[in-house]
This record gives sequence, C-alpha cells and structure tokens, in this order.
Amino acid sequence: MGFSTSLQGQSSHEALLARQDAEIKLLETMRRCLTIKVKSDREYATTISSLTMQGKKIERNEDLVGSLVVQSWRDIMDSIDQTAKLIKQQADSIEAIVVEHITTLYSERRRARKIYQEEQTWLNNQFQQLTDDVARKKLEYQKNLEMYKLMRSRFEEHYVKSGRVGRKLDEVREKYQKACRKLHLTHNEYVLLLGAVTECEHDLRTCYLPSLLHRQQAIHQEFITSWKTILQDIVKYSDFTTDKFQEIHRRMQKAVDSVKPVEEYRDFIGKHRTRPASPIRFIFDENLVDDTSGKLLPNKLTVDNLTIDWLRNRLTELETSLKATQQNRQNPQYPSENNSDSKISILDYSREREELRLRCQEKRLQRQVDVIRAALNELGCEELPLGYDLSMESSFTDSPSISKAFRGISHLTTNQKGNGNGDLMEEEWFHGVLPREEVVRLLVTEGDFLVRETTRNDECQIVLSVCWDGHKHFIVQTTPEGHYRFEGPTFPSIQELIRHQWLSGLPVTSRSGAILKTPILRERWELNNDDVILLEKIGRGNFGDVYKAQLKTCKTEVAVKTCKVTLPDEQKRKFLQEGRILKQYDHPNIVKLIGICVQKQPIMIVMELVPGGSLLTYLRKNASTITQQEQLRMCKDAAAGMRYLESKYCIHRDLAARNCLVGYESIVKISDFGMSREEEEYIVSDGMKQIPIKWTAPEALNFGKYTSLCDVWSYGILMWEIFSKGGNPYSGMSNSQAREKIDAGYRMPAPENTPDEIYRLMLRCWEYEPEKRPHFDQIFTVVETLSQAYL
Ligand code: ADP
Repeated sequence: MGFSTSLQGQSSHEALLARQDAEIKLLETMRRCLTIKVKSDREYATTISSLTMQGKKIERNEDLVGSLVVQSWRDIMDSIDQTAKLIKQQADSIEAIVVEHITTLYSERRRARKIYQEEQTWLNNQFQQLTDDVARKKLEYQKNLEMYKLMRSRFEEHYVKSGRVGRKLDEVREKYQKACRKLHLTHNEYVLLLGAVTECEHDLRTCYLPSLLHRQQAIHQEFITSWKTILQDIVKYSDFTTDKFQEIHRRMQKAVDSVKPVEEYRDFIGKHRTRPASPIRFIFDENLVDDTSGKLLPNKLTVDNLTIDWLRNRLTELETSLKATQQNRQNPQYPSENNSDSKISILDYSREREELRLRCQEKRLQRQVDVIRAALNELGCEELPLGYDLSMESSFTDSPSISKAFRGISHLTTNQKGNGNGDLMEEEWFHGVLPREEVVRLLVTEGDFLVRETTRNDECQIVLSVCWDGHKHFIVQTTPEGHYRFEGPTFPSIQELIRHQWLSGLPVTSRSGAILKTPILRERWELNNDDVILLEKIGRGNFGDVYKAQLKTCKTEVAVKTCKVTLPDEQKRKFLQEGRILKQYDHPNIVKLIGICVQKQPIMIVMELVPGGSLLTYLRKNASTITQQEQLRMCKDAAAGMRYLESKYCIHRDLAARNCLVGYESIVKISDFGMSREEEEYIVSDGMKQIPIKWTAPEALNFGKYTSLCDVWSYGILMWEIFSKGGNPYSGMSNSQAREKIDAGYRMPAPENTPDEIYRLMLRCWEYEPEKRPHFDQIFTVVETLSQAYL
C-alpha cells in the first residue's frame, strides 16, 4: 500500500497538497524557533561569559590569599565560561548547519509541491483532452449522420420523381454518395478515436498516474530523511551532556573537591598569627579607700551594721538567681525543632551559646555568693562592726583609769548562779544595754573586756566586747540544747562560758585571736533598772517622758528621764550624751546626775529631783508674787552654774528659762544638757536643726560657731525672761524677723522693773561681737553685788 495505489483519487490528491502545505508551514515554524534559540543561546553565553569575568574580580583579594575556596571559585568561573563558549559554539552550529538545512529543505519542498501540482494538472488536462476529442468526434458523427440521412432522402425522392435518371438525380446522387462517404469516414475515425483514447486513458491511469504518485512518495520520504537529519542535528547541538561538557563539569567538581575546610585557613593563620589575648585586669584602685579609717579595705567586702542587711539580702537574691541559672543549665528551655528532618545549621548554635552564657552567668553568681558567704562566715560569732566612726566624741567614762579591773577570778565564780540573763545582771562586767559606742570607750587596753546585751531584729543577743586590735564584739551563740559557746566548747551558763574564755587564755575565735585579760566592771553610774521605781510622770522631754521616781536602795526621790525603746541607736546614743556630760559636774546650780540605767530597755538617766519643775513654768505661775530680790537671786544662781560650766569648758548651747529647774527655796539649777558640748569652741556643720533662734548668739546662727560667749548671749535672754516673769522674747516677731533685727542692731527693751544695772548687763551680754561680752565670772560678780545691794 502506497501513494501509487492508495492516493489516486481527487480527494487524495487534494489531501496530499494540503499535507505538503502543512509541512512547509512546519518547516517555517522550525526555522523561526531555531533562529530564536540561536539568538537566546548566544545571549545567554555572552551574559554568562561576562558574569564569570565579574565573578573573577575579587575585592580585597589580598585578605583572601591562600584561600582554597577562592581558587575553587576561580576554577568554577573558568569552567562556567568554558560552558558558555561551548553553548555559543553549539548555537553557531545550529545556525550554520541546521537552520541552513531547513532553509534548503523548505525551498525544495516548495519546488517539489509545485512540480507535483503541475504534473497533476497536466494529467487532468490529458484526460479532459481525450474526453473532448471523443465528444467532438461524436458530434461530427451525429452531424454527418444527419447529412447522410438528408441526402439519402433527397436522392430517394429524386430517384422516384425523375425516374432514376437526370442530371438532377445525378447531382443528388453525388451528394448522397458524398454524405455517405463522409459518414463512413467519420464513423471510422470515431471508431479509431475511441480505441486510441481508451488506450491512452488506460495508459495514463494505469501507468502514468501510479508512476507519478510513486515518485511523489519517494520524494516525500526523501524529504523526511532530510528532515530527520535536521532533527538529529537539533538534538546533537542541544546536547549539554557531551564529553566536552562532562569534562568541564569534572573540572568544576575537582575544583570543589580541592576545598578542604581544615586547610582553608592554614595560610591565613600563618600570616595573621598573634599571641593569645592577655586578660583584662580589674584592679581595685586603692586611692578609693583613702581616709576611711581602715573601715574599707581594697578587695574586701565590708561587713558592718551598715551593710549586713544589704549583704544578706544580696546573698539571698544571688543564691536564688544562681539556683535558677543552674536549673536552666540542667533543663535548658530551647524552642522545639519545627522540622526534625532538617539538618541543623552550624550557625544555629544557640544551644551551645546559651549553655556558655549560662555557664558564665553561673560563675559570676557563684563567685559573688562565695565572696559574700566567706565574708559572713569570717564574721563567725563576732558582732557586726560599726560602719561609722564615733571616736571624735567624748567618753562616758572620765578616763581610762576609771576602768577598774576585776578584783579576782573568785568574783566570777561566786557570782555564777545559773543560765539566765537575770544572773548575768549581777555580774559587774555585765553592762546591760549600754550602747556599743559607750562600750568601746570603756575598753582601752588590749585584753579589756565586758559583756553587754543588744537587740538585733527584735532578737536579744549577748555580746562579749573585747579590746583587741581595735575592738571586737562576739555574739554568744546558743546551741539547740540551750548551752552557750563561741567557737570552742559549750557551757550551760554565759558566766561559765566567759570564765572559761578568760581563764583558758584561748582566743575567743581563731580568726580574731582576741584574748580576754581584764574584765571591765560597771561604773558607779551604771545603775540597775530594777533599782528605780517610777512614780509619776512630771514632764516630757525630747527622747521620752520624765518621771518622778524613787531609788529602791535608799528611798531617795529622783527624777528619771526615759528614752523611748523604739528610737534608733543613734538617738539613744544622743540621749546618753546628757548623762555623759552631767556625770562630771558637781555644783549646786547644776542638776546632778545620779546614774544611768542601761541594764535593759528603756534606758534611763537618773537625776536629782528638782521639785519646782522648769523655771519658765515657775516664773509664769508665780509672776504676781516674785520679787526683784528673788529675780536677782535666780540670775545669780544661773550665773554661778554657768561660771562653773565655763570653767569646765562646757558650752551648754540651750540655756533658757525652760531648761532651768527650780528647786527648794527657788534655787535655780541649769538642766537639759542634751545639746551641750565639752569644748572651748564648737562648730556645727550638720545644719541648724532645732536651734532656739531667739536665744542663740548671731555668730552661732550665722557661722555655727559656739563658745561660752554664746551661752553669755543666751544668759542675757534668760535674765530678760526672769525679769519679764516668763515673757516671750521678741514677742510678735518670727524667728527670722528677730534675727534680721538683731543683725540690724535691735535689742529688746528692758522688762518692767528691771534694774538699770541688770539691763546694762543684758545689753553687754547682747554685744554683737562675742569678745565684747562679759565672761560668766564677771557676770556673776555684777549680779552677786547687785543682789547683795537689794537684800
Ligand atoms: P529634754 O532635755 O529631753 O527635752 P527636759 O530636761 O527639758 O527634757 O525635761 C522635760 C521636763 O521634765 C522639764 O521641763 C521638767 O518639767 C521635767 N524635769 C526634767 N528634769 C527634771 C528634774 N531633774 N527634776 C524635776 N523635773 C524635771
């Protein structure tokens, strides 16, 4: 089955033409596409070539010397460039060979179609020609037959009519014969023609047409062969897996293989090698601890009453943080991996980093915890040192000589009665709640010791204070069995513990090395709280209530100033200041100190009872009856007391009628030494809080400079108060107005009935320049002379 047998019909002929048209179209499409492919491949190759040029331009090349990655990259770039060149070559080949071939095939195909069509046309024309020839001959045959029939009927007609002769008959006969011959000839020609065209048609149909179609099939197949070659070439020149490409690919692979991570930085390390980093040294700047009297030491935590709470809180905080950090390290909280299949990038080392960070944090916290713990442990049973220095203030004791040594060991043993602090009270070396600042003043020689009580965080603690390399304070430790100890053995009573510590000559703690040598006994001032029976409240002081009281031992009536338990230590220390000052003085016009009660809270100052109460109240109450003579005597008493104080270099700083007491026979006694200072000159630097402005001399107000001549100024006001019978100085003026007026030269006028001499004395006391004021011995002389005169 082929073209020759199967495609003879007219529709086949038309289909074959259409097929050829389609193939020609396809060739056109192929040529167009391949042209575009060639163009694209060339452009691609050009772009790749130029990018490889760029890729090989490496910035900061010098920093990458010796890098295997760089070498590999360059080789890869070269290889990619090679690939681009090959692609371009293949594109050139497609253009030169394939596209060219298609163009040729295309024109041949068109030519072949044309020839085929021409031959077909010719053949059809042949068939048409034969048909036309036969039809023409047939028409001629029919015409001649008609003529023959006409001539024959004419002849037969003449023949009958003329009687078989005549010229007309001859003519008709001749025409008849001629027509007959023509018919016969035409008949023969027709017969011959039919035979010939039949033969011809047969030949054209059975021979010529099959041969034509057969040739067409061969032509078509030949075309397909060429076409196949074209397709083959397309495939060939689009093949990127050829040996050449593979060779390039192998080169690239080799370049990649030459990258060895472990060797990559060898040259770099060699070139940039440096010494290992030296540690940053954090050194305590010793200049910082300048002038802190050894309380702050470089690189050493300061554990004292100012820092202990902070240290403990800090320790707790740090321990909590440390624990949390340790737990975090043990059970790290990392975000769960979303995709367990995915390879974890080396950049994703957050776990490791977190672990290192936690380790670092743990070390930091641990170090701080260790340092604080060590510092607190080092303290052991020692009481906290004081953070501030009070050595500038005078001592409660008169002098070191006051410290009397124990009379003997027997004292301790005989007084040892049991476990409780009640028994301790009987020990003369037990000083009750005497503030530490006072205790420190009592312990002056190495080995001096005493026992006292303190309260810390509402807890009562017994403290052994020793003079040893400064002062050491050891808290008596209580064992769960209720025994007492320091570092060594335990004892059922504190007395036994102290006795052991003293007699054994062993250090209280190995760290301190403190050895007990001389027990310091209570002074006669140190009364037992229980020796005083409070009777009734008679006044109210700055630190607490004032009571009339009775001494148990001798039934003497006394006045007792109490200090509120709730006041801070600093205030208690100030409260005792008055006792510290007063105990040195013995003068009829100075209120007498009987003792201090520091065995337990509340601490108290016991003084002689001056029954008339404060001078100010007395003056006001008795204004109508007070005589000038009495007033002068009051002035004389006060002057006598102040003369005494001046001789002792004591500056009262708060001399006023409210601070004087009135005793039997209206004797005036100077009291309230809470602000007093034993100095010739005292400079106040901590502000002017609670200063009695209207009683205070200008230089003290303006410069904080206090001398006995300031007390002289106040004495002038006191005289004014006495003669005004309890009047308010500078009445109607505020403190600042009074100050301004005084600075401007104003002085109060004399109260009614003031003797001129007294007013003159007042004015002298109020001289602006302190040096111009009289001293108390002069004042006393003036007042005494006057009071004599008024007798
Ligand atoms: P403070 O110094 O704490 O302010 P004061 O010395 O002013 O206390 O005393 C307050 C009040 O207590 C005085 O005004 C006075 O009435 C009374 N008072 C103080 N001391 C005695 C005493 N020795 N005898 C009698 N009464 C006194």
